[in-house]
Amino acid sequence: MKKIDINLIREDMDRCYLCKKPRCKANCPIETPIPNIIQLYKDGKIDEAAEILFNNNPLSAVCGVICPHEDQCLGNCIRGIKDEPVKFHELETYISSEYLKNARFEQVNKLNDKIAIIGSGPAGITLAFILAKKGYKITMFEKNSQIGGVLRYGIPSFRLSGEILDNIEERLLELNVKIRYNTLVGPVLTVDKLLEDGYKAIFIGTGVWNPKPLRIKGESLGHVHYAIDYLKSPKSFRLGKKVVVIGAGNVAMDAARTAKYYGAEEVIVAYRKDFAHMSATKAEINDAKEEGVKFELFKAPVEIVDEGVVFIDTKMVEEDGKEKMVDIEGSEKLMEADSVIIAVSQSPKNNIVSNTDNLETNKQGLIVIDEIGHTTKRGVFACGDVVTGAKTVVEAVAHGKKVAEAIDDFCKNEE
Ligand code: FAD
Repeated sequence: MKKIDINLIREDMDRCYLCKKPRCKANCPIETPIPNIIQLYKDGKIDEAAEILFNNNPLSAVCGVICPHEDQCLGNCIRGIKDEPVKFHELETYISSEYLKNARFEQVNKLNDKIAIIGSGPAGITLAFILAKKGYKITMFEKNSQIGGVLRYGIPSFRLSGEILDNIEERLLELNVKIRYNTLVGPVLTVDKLLEDGYKAIFIGTGVWNPKPLRIKGESLGHVHYAIDYLKSPKSFRLGKKVVVIGAGNVAMDAARTAKYYGAEEVIVAYRKDFAHMSATKAEINDAKEEGVKFELFKAPVEIVDEGVVFIDTKMVEEDGKEKMVDIEGSEKLMEADSVIIAVSQSPKNNIVSNTDNLETNKQGLIVIDEIGHTTKRGVFACGDVVTGAKTVVEAVAHGKKVAEAIDDFCKNEE
């Protein structure tokens, strides 16, 4: 994680125009009241600023570090038109991580209703904080040995420190949240069993943990790995000297940077289009370049073989006024690699849906919900990646806030 210099932050905040109609706030998916926070900070009211940030976004400390700021607050700062934009996310990271470290929570209200939260990623954590603060008895079920979801088992620790998640866990425990680690809900502990055991409402925030395959020959060979599996425990993998990563999103960048971090001499990201089409943020691409990751553009994988990957060259053409990618026939060529990492998105696992009646999913296996987050099974709610497909942390949190309120209403009306 990049080190923060508080003196530089202070100077930067003095550059903020404190706009009356702030574009930074308007382009933040969770509408962080940015000028308000900056003003409080300048007035020395840091505790107040921290509470506002936390109450608006319990994962503010995480979002300060890993949100795609260039599309949000940073990219929409009015000062950025002619000059450097104000880096509000650095102030947010500083204030919010100090708050998580130093605040002490207590569950003041006590209600009798029990709520089960399945999954401890950004969505589950958001609901746990909001509903525990309202007084509900929360049990969080997590299949891994630590909380955090992608934040712990996907995003590398050089990008997001585990300390933030440790502090989140401490604050959840102070609110009497019970955490059942290493507990996969679905095959043995089913959703129906939880309902039978008296949970008034159940929340599913289980994310997307099945890698999407390339559907080409050679994907099952021993030197081929899916990024989502690799990033879970990169230290266990012996990738060799030369690694080819296929894909161009943030997951591909994380896999490539992690492979480099753990000692691969040459890491190449191969992508079928150009930089402009990549879904990874510019910041992630630049960091990867700075760390020595190489890029091979206009290459589409055809087959994986023991020696590496056979790619065909591609090009963009215009057809009926639309841009289209086409293969260049006869251009197939082997790119040698000791290991290949495939990073072309993820889809949900079906542990829960295959063991639960009346829980509808769409064609992609994503859980179907109504406008308030209620699934097709009464008392069972969902949000986050398991509903939307792979998105961002701030989107999972923003949606999670609304679903928490819907669960609260549901429990009250069921009385
Ligand atoms: P998850 O974070 O996936 O959490 C789901 C949790 O449920 C996990 O802890 C899982 O173990 C648990 N679980 C699953 N099934 C069960 C079960 N049956 N029983 C019990 N527990 C279960 N977003 C950004 O905003 N910025 C980034 O820089 C960024 N980088 C990313 C890098 C990577 C490598 C990946 C994979 C994603 C990245 N994202 C990023 C996306 C972001 O992390 C996700 O959108 C977000 O984590 C979704 O939150 P969630 O709570 O829905 O799911």
